[in-house]
Amino acid sequence: MTTTHVIENVPKGLHIGGSWQPAASGRTMPVDNPATDTTLCRVADASPEDGQRALAAAVTAQQDWARTAPRERSEILRRAHEIILARTEELALLMTLEMGKPLAEARGEVAYAAEFFRWFSEEAVRIDGGYATSPDGRNRHLVLRQPVGPCLLITPWNFPLAMGTRKIGPAVAAGCTMVLKPAPQTPLSTLALTAILGEAGLPPGVLNTVTTSDAAALVAPLLRGGGIRKLSFTGSTQVGRTLLAQCADTVVRTSLELGGNAPFIVFDDADLDAAVDGAMVAKMRNMGEACTAANRIFVHTSVAEEFATRLTARMSALTVGDGTTSGTDVGPLIDAAGRAKVERLVRDAVERGAKILTGGELPAGEGNFYPPTVLAQVPRDAELTGTEIFGPVAALFPFDDEDDVVRAANDTEWGLVSYVFTRDLDRALRVGERLETGMVGLNTGLVSNPAAPFGGVKQSGLGREGGRVGIEEFLEYKYLAVPTGS
Ligand code: NAP
Repeated sequence: MTTTHVIENVPKGLHIGGSWQPAASGRTMPVDNPATDTTLCRVADASPEDGQRALAAAVTAQQDWARTAPRERSEILRRAHEIILARTEELALLMTLEMGKPLAEARGEVAYAAEFFRWFSEEAVRIDGGYATSPDGRNRHLVLRQPVGPCLLITPWNFPLAMGTRKIGPAVAAGCTMVLKPAPQTPLSTLALTAILGEAGLPPGVLNTVTTSDAAALVAPLLRGGGIRKLSFTGSTQVGRTLLAQCADTVVRTSLELGGNAPFIVFDDADLDAAVDGAMVAKMRNMGEACTAANRIFVHTSVAEEFATRLTARMSALTVGDGTTSGTDVGPLIDAAGRAKVERLVRDAVERGAKILTGGELPAGEGNFYPPTVLAQVPRDAELTGTEIFGPVAALFPFDDEDDVVRAANDTEWGLVSYVFTRDLDRALRVGERLETGMVGLNTGLVSNPAAPFGGVKQSGLGREGGRVGIEEFLEYKYLAVPTGS
């Protein structure tokens, strides 16, 4: 499978009402490769009018789609799951080209993304209801679940395939139609996914995909218009706040998967090999460009030096390069602005007293590469303690006391995930309960799983994706009151 072939195979238009079409204005926008700073291809650049046409298609398709048999919706997802897996190599290469992650990681994301469709194909046929007599005996209560209605799905660039399936899966299972707007840096994975759903039998108008370089202009009128009944957004907390405010005007139901600032805590009794393995996953998955990335690594002072030595050995052994080249462990960051932010945060930490154990130097040449970097003895007032680093930089903070580290871990507006490494079960559970995050990894650096409720508290979001509750976000309760006649 060559690069040219993979790129050529992807539709480049807007997908509205079941057909591929150019933007009404004829405008297109570039898709760049962050490893080479070159343009891979161009895709349609939708205007607000195109957005309105996509919404109209979703609204038109909603009633019929809601009436399809759950088994039919389930089978569509199941078929799409199988097609995705059969095209793993193609989809992985596409993702690496537009996003930068190494091929091995891209293959992992393809499997993870496909699994959401399998999970929700199983959930589609388990939507239940209730039948009860009211306490006073006068009414029967028939409780049913109905799709919330047309949904607006907005996804980020860092997991371009999985963030799509994590939203499309439950929406299809519940019987909702959709307008999907992917991130402009990574539209190709989403366009390929849209085509796959068509092949799997998704009816016209159910999924309408619009790529645009002006998200704010396209999305605000969609939320104002009243046709959208649900927003499911994954992205930064800053944009999440803006969209939440826009949703308030028309009382649109909202799920938000936002930024994180994960604490990763290594106690003195931790299995250090396991802790280093966990830190490598929690820090380096996706080059550190993950909402779940370990942003602040707190290590007990009695093991701080040993942990730092072992982590530094692992980080400095990684190979940085183009993700399509075999042997690459760390690909480029998404763009120049992302890399400049990482560089600024490292410089700030060093100016405040942090020590660079490896990395920290910008490489020369093309691409947005940043080397795996370990910073030791980072002071707690460094800017990166309150900012998503979103890069391959492990920031180590020493601590002595359990209460102090829990307080420091919770001292952030975010609350997505935390990680705790200790051999003491009682401490693991006690600390796990005290951490103000929606998810806690106990002796593991990976919490993402389609069968688990993914999501955060505080300003990391509202609602959950995946697990048994994932489909709930796309369903409304309705109850029919029927007099018993007694
Ligand atoms: P972002 O800048 O917030 O963008 C996310 C999406 O929102 C993009 O499609 C973007 O399109 C769109 N957008 C931006 N402004 C908008 C507006 N005013 N109206 C409508 N749409 C708008 O985030 P990102 O840089 O793509 O992704 C990284 C962020 O996502 C990080 O904060 C990360 O933690 C978070 N994230 C969270 C999770 C989770 O599950 N909690 C998962 C992955 C990523 P444009 O780029 O065209 O503006």
